[in-house]
Amino acid sequence: MTATATSPATFGNYINGQWQPAASGETFENRNPANQDDLVGLHAASGREDVDAALNAAQAAFDGWRRTSAIQRSAILHKAAEIISSRANDIGRELTREEGKTLKEGIGETNRAAQILRYYAGEIQQPDGEHYPSASNTTLLYTVREPLGVCAIVTPWNFPIAIPAWKIVPAIAFGNTVVFKPASDAPLSSVRLIEALAEAGLPAGVVNMVTGSAGQVGDPLVRDPRVVAISFTGSNAVGQELRKIAAERGTKLQLELGGKNPAIVLSDADMDHALQQVINGAMMSTGQKCTATSRAIIERARVDEFTTRLSERIQAMTVGDPQAPETQMGPVINAKAAERIVGDIKKGASEGAELIAGGERLTDNGRGKGHFVAPTLFSGVESDSFLGQEELFGPVLGVIPVDSLEEAISVANSVRFGLSASIFTRDLGKAMAFAREIQAGIVHINSETAGAEPQVPFGGYKGSSSYSREQGKSAREFFTQVKTVYMDPPPAR
Ligand code: NAP
Repeated sequence: MTATATSPATFGNYINGQWQPAASGETFENRNPANQDDLVGLHAASGREDVDAALNAAQAAFDGWRRTSAIQRSAILHKAAEIISSRANDIGRELTREEGKTLKEGIGETNRAAQILRYYAGEIQQPDGEHYPSASNTTLLYTVREPLGVCAIVTPWNFPIAIPAWKIVPAIAFGNTVVFKPASDAPLSSVRLIEALAEAGLPAGVVNMVTGSAGQVGDPLVRDPRVVAISFTGSNAVGQELRKIAAERGTKLQLELGGKNPAIVLSDADMDHALQQVINGAMMSTGQKCTATSRAIIERARVDEFTTRLSERIQAMTVGDPQAPETQMGPVINAKAAERIVGDIKKGASEGAELIAGGERLTDNGRGKGHFVAPTLFSGVESDSFLGQEELFGPVLGVIPVDSLEEAISVANSVRFGLSASIFTRDLGKAMAFAREIQAGIVHINSETAGAEPQVPFGGYKGSSSYSREQGKSAREFFTQVKTVYMDPPPAR
């Protein structure tokens, strides 16, 4: 079996270098969130037996892979990057079809996956240890970083190729082997990433992918004692469960969770620029980014003007088929998400915030076949309200008026999350004060909350993360362990 077999396209698991159906033979559907009539494909509905086979393969491959030189590993990653780049338009189009972000974003995300492969192809050629002075002048005292073993990687649907890449690629670059469970709402992009790695010559068993539900695949995977490290991106609720599981077994754990990201706009900001950046931060990917802007914290002197212009721009957005070039915002991921978001909007309105744009499902012009929610704007949001505190993970922005920079920072910091934050101002002193005082892992001055590059650490403060960082050099810290070597010559005869 190859990854793609029949029509409707059916995709298997990738275990020990072979594409294969689930042991049960069962499949699940992957449907286009913009048009539920469009069946993107069928994927293996796996279970414990498949997870077990994948873990056996990862365990068996570990010794050979950890002994493969970094230079050889680097060559495979470079080749996989070339394969992804050469297919970026096709993979990006499929990504848009299964996930719903605009085509530009889908292709951009695919190129990001290639960029990540290239980055780690270089990063693993960097020094991986340190030499220290010793109390003895004949002792060679040094550290080396070594891989951990079998890593479980569990990812969400909102970046279905970039997030798998930024976990799997450093894991294998540093010599680990992987069992990977992609999100069930967008598994096809993950298939394309694994295909590229396989075609690039990755040995059998180094990466194994098992698709299927959280209960049947995710749960047995993260609980298995063969797994020495778990890297997870997703919701806080699941992250909390994983903390308990990992603590009980002593498993290394990396969590990237939710956000309630603020954009502060001070009175002296360039309003046109701030407006566009806040809208991009709030509405790109239909607001379904962990780094999306969901709170616009505006100085009172400009709040009316800013809110009016935000409202006009948001209401003028083209919402529809994400494959169409004119579309600015696509659907949310599934019917459940659309219902939840509209319910959350009603809850927000019932608490006193003023709904000034959007708020409803969009069902006209063929949009009834998909899960479209209008881009939504609230004004007069209280910081301690539901809308001021909770992640909605959809196209919903709340405006919170404030009287000063100090109040803005205090409001920004008043949530349990701390992923990303931005400020718009021309005042260097205020920008620097914000950068010092804000409780967030990613800080932007005069740019939207959602920008992130792969060569620098990524992760949040407080409930958004688990203190470990992903991407850049930080990935080496998570995916390796340190060995200290004291080397003395044998005594002279
Ligand atoms: P989710 O429901 O937590 O699911 C994430 C992944 O975990 C999916 O593959 C899911 O499988 C799996 N899963 C669920 N329960 C599990 C369990 N008990 N054991 C093992 N695996 C389990 O999250 P989501 O709805 O996909 O993603 C949205 C959330 O992710 C938001 O809160 C968002 O902020 C966050 N996020 C954070 C970052 C970041 O870097 N900080 C980036 C992106 C998204 P199924 O798909 O089969 O259910």
